[in-house]
Amino acid sequence: MKPAIIVHGGAWDIPDKIWQAHKEGCTKALEKGMEMLETGASAIDAVEECIKIMEMNPVFDAGRGSFLNIDGKIEMDAGIMDGKDLSFGAIGGIDGIYHPVSLARKVMEETEHVFLAGNGAHKFARKMGFQKIPYEKLLVGRELDRWLRIKDDPDFRTRTVFEEDKKGRIDKDGIRVDTVGAVAIDINGDISSATSTGGIPKKMSGRIGDAPIVGCGFYADNLAGGASATGWGEQIMKICMCKTAVDFLSEGLDPMEAARRAVEVLETRVDGSGGIILIDSKGRIGHAYNTPRMAFEFSYAV
Ligand code: ASP
Repeated sequence: MKPAIIVHGGAWDIPDKIWQAHKEGCTKALEKGMEMLETGASAIDAVEECIKIMEMNPVFDAGRGSFLNIDGKIEMDAGIMDGKDLSFGAIGGIDGIYHPVSLARKVMEETEHVFLAGNGAHKFARKMGFQKIPYEKLLVGRELDRWLRIKDDPDFRTRTVFEEDKKGRIDKDGIRVDTVGAVAIDINGDISSATSTGGIPKKMSGRIGDAPIVGCGFYADNLAGGASATGWGEQIMKICMCKTAVDFLSEGLDPMEAARRAVEVLETRVDGSGGIILIDSKGRIGHAYNTPRMAFEFSYAV
């Protein structure tokens, strides 16, 4: 099998002045992922590494650079899945670590469970040797400034932000950043996907989005394909967007069409906005979004 990989850095009305940084952030992760796949790495190692690179890049809303919630805290979500045996791991509402995606993978590989959140997730992180990262190291000035601007603004609502994005109007707060995702197929035909996010600005404390919910923010099945979604999490969850897209692949749709149809369901059924990336079991790529832009890059081995 010839490996292939696709990564995204969010779907929204990404303004020109930060578009390049988004594209470059995706390219940097993609190059590393492709180099790994070409030298025989597994899809799951490649997607984890891509996400780790993007979690350390403060351009994105994942790891360093995550949005602050209503209380000014960071709460990150991530999920990762191995399409070989449908195993997955997920983490909800974690702080104090750089790489939620790696902790999600530990949940998958080191526990009998699939999803950890709250105090137990923190305890598990320490047990797995994740050092406690001080809040200040995850926080970037841009997000502190944003939080100070919006925390007392009654008009700053999740719905408004995503609706404005869909219409192609950068939200009134000016600049957002976004969730990251990766999907890969390796030389053995194994498919993996992963998604990581700081969620959405001014979210309620304890809010968990689509990113760590299997079938919603991520999904992978060697028999059909893999997917990672981004956008309005509350709406993405209602249509189990990644599983919906992978089901379209199972029905025989090509990945571009499957991605387009999944976004169509998001839009027509729940008036949602966002985007999705896909790889099918033949290594073909798909992508679609109903926002003005989605940052993504992909590559096939030649
Ligand atoms: N889907 C993410 C969430 O709702 C946010 C995003 O992708 O922009 O948490």
